Amino acid sequence: MRVLLGPLGDEGATILRIYAWNVTHGGGAARAPNEYRIQLTGEMPENVPGETTIVLGWSSTFRTFAGWDATVHGHRSSNSPSLQIREETLVSANSIGLAAALRNSDDVVVAFRAELLAVYCLNAEEIHSDTAAEIAELLNEIAASAHDVVEDTQPDPVTESRHKIARVVTTNFRAWDFGRRINLAYRGRCSVCTIQLALTEAAHIIPVAWPGSTDLTSNGLSLCRNHHRAYDANLLSITPGYVVEISALRGRSLRAASLEGGLDELMAFDGATLAVVPDAMADRPRPEFLNTGREARRWVG
Ligand SMILES: [Zn+2]
Repeated sequence: MRVLLGPLGDEGATILRIYAWNVTHGGGAARAPNEYRIQLTGEMPENVPGETTIVLGWSSTFRTFAGWDATVHGHRSSNSPSLQIREETLVSANSIGLAAALRNSDDVVVAFRAELLAVYCLNAEEIHSDTAAEIAELLNEIAASAHDVVEDTQPDPVTESRHKIARVVTTNFRAWDFGRRINLAYRGRCSVCTIQLALTEAAHIIPVAWPGSTDLTSNGLSLCRNHHRAYDANLLSITPGYVVEISALRGRSLRAASLEGGLDELMAFDGATLAVVPDAMADRPRPEFLNTGREARRWVG
């Protein structure tokens, strides 16, 4: 499969040549019980100048992809070549999103959840560069660090790494992980109107670009798309005491622009207590974050 990312003719566009097989256990007494693999059959991976070749395995058991270095294996001659990955790596990726393992001194295999496929594809060349051991360690560190993001953000060894990949993967991985945690904590419900229908999104309370913003679950809200847009447009806000406020000022300017359709329905939430908050106290929106979020957004009510 060939995939073009970016506008056609743009120098920045990336052409991906993707080869994908199913990851299976393979069985047989000769195989280690924890070894999974893809059996390369049919068309062999080929490196074409100007294209990025990706070799992938999909494990339906662990719901994760595995990615191998296409350059190392593309030229191996064997009647029945296969690429291996250990069960632990797949299990780990299934549970925390991303895991890497060293296969030998110069090769890293990466397992990741489907949501991270684009991040992997766009960074596969760097992930499988000549510093495999370092990269494997770095990727595992990124995956582990997102889950124990605590209090303040000290200088982060991951983002200070000399590898560009650390910054790129960290940003994407943490955004994905933040969304996953918010979705779990709110059980996919909008905290204002309770709608589910897979229509909710994770919203940062203190905007990402604002100093002091974090990816803690307590700096997030689960909001349906309408309420997320309203929140970002300062039409809706949440007080540090979890009270929903609808901006009278914005309401007036919408009326003046003859755009008041739905305003009465929205106004019905004004003064209501937040309908959904996470069960765990630590995951609930932190009042000081809500306060700073309102300052950052210049909420006037
Ligand atoms: Zn909503």
